[in-house]
Amino acid sequence: MIAGESLNHAVVRSSTTDGGLRGALLLLGLLLAACDDSRPTGASESEVGQAGSAAPATSEAAHPTTVEPVSEPPTGVVPTATGGTPSGALGAIHAIERYGAKDSARIVVALSQPVSYELGELPAADGKGPRLFIDLPGVSWDGPVKLPVGGIVNQIRTGEREGGTRLVLDLNRAVRKRIFYLPEPFRLVLDISSETGTSDTRRNPREISRVVLDPGHGGHDPGAIGASGLQEKDVALDVAQRAAPLIARELGISTLLTRDYDDYVALDERVAKANAFGADLFISIHCNASPSPDSHGVMTFVLDSAPDGIAEQVAARENHGSASAAKHFAHAMREVMDTDSVQTSVRFAKLLQRASLASLQPNYTSVVDGGVRRAGFYVLAGAHMPAVLFEASFISHPAEEQRLDSTEYRQRLADALVNAIRAYRAGAEG
Ligand SMILES: [Zn+2]
Repeated sequence: MIAGESLNHAVVRSSTTDGGLRGALLLLGLLLAACDDSRPTGASESEVGQAGSAAPATSEAAHPTTVEPVSEPPTGVVPTATGGTPSGALGAIHAIERYGAKDSARIVVALSQPVSYELGELPAADGKGPRLFIDLPGVSWDGPVKLPVGGIVNQIRTGEREGGTRLVLDLNRAVRKRIFYLPEPFRLVLDISSETGTSDTRRNPREISRVVLDPGHGGHDPGAIGASGLQEKDVALDVAQRAAPLIARELGISTLLTRDYDDYVALDERVAKANAFGADLFISIHCNASPSPDSHGVMTFVLDSAPDGIAEQVAARENHGSASAAKHFAHAMREVMDTDSVQTSVRFAKLLQRASLASLQPNYTSVVDGGVRRAGFYVLAGAHMPAVLFEASFISHPAEEQRLDSTEYRQRLADALVNAIRAYRAGAEG
């Protein structure tokens, strides 16, 4: 049996609190994981109370009138990253979203505008565990001073520092970290993984024991809508739900869906779930759309810092942003992406294209190969595993919309996902 990890999710906005755990995760095959609400109910004062203030023990408490100082001694401060624009801009933190799990965590700081930031670390010393901090000069935060996370990050403390805000992450062990930002709306994403966790210790990238399928959109976000009213979110979920039991049964691979019903899941949260699950492969499932009703075919996308023009348009739609923001983001990712992971993702993407055509073309001869393309997709950012975005067909093309509405076509798409994973595991090249 494989040990399960839980993903604790909490979002605290500066004006409201929402400490609840997001709904159930669907696990199939070998793994049954409970989504337990094991977030700490509040750190003891002795762990955090430098100033001994009567700070609230949990994020659910009312906003205090005094802010606990979180300044750390300068000794041992190791700034590790800076970025953002422009320096010194005034802004505010709207929300601090936390996705904590046993061996990984994602912290998303939603901001009113682009700001400068600095990420640093403080080693364990004087009875304190290791800490990370993010300094945001000129940025305000009027939310709780302590935010529970759970898993690898015990909690986040917030406080004023030199006219700005410092966030301190209290860790329960040494971690690897990566920070990047997403535009429109501007947010900082800090990804953390255990130095000894499963996600960074695999020797063979073709070993697949866990897969995450990510049905695009959901809830109030229908995705693209076809002329006859077919909604992308429904097709994506149905294809994922058809594929998941096959992957589990035929390949013996544990499969997690980022959503298993018509529910909205933020783009930031989807890869956080995959990282927490220790997934070996992340596949986001979508339907393509174009202003031109003639556009048709199957395409698979990877996140790359060197995007192509057509892919940027698709990324803009899937990101709920502009093409220029997608381009800007792709460029910014150059600093944090490693070439190996792009190549591995491309390898799987090619296999998925090939498996799709093999599955569809016998019955649908007009299906065309749109190829593997590269662009700045937010939903793929920060994945610890090969990650692709599959555009199953064009919902904006009348004939393809009709096909996407049929159970047979959807089943063939599900079969293609299974066959691509099987080929990838077997070491096939695309
Ligand atoms: Zn989509």
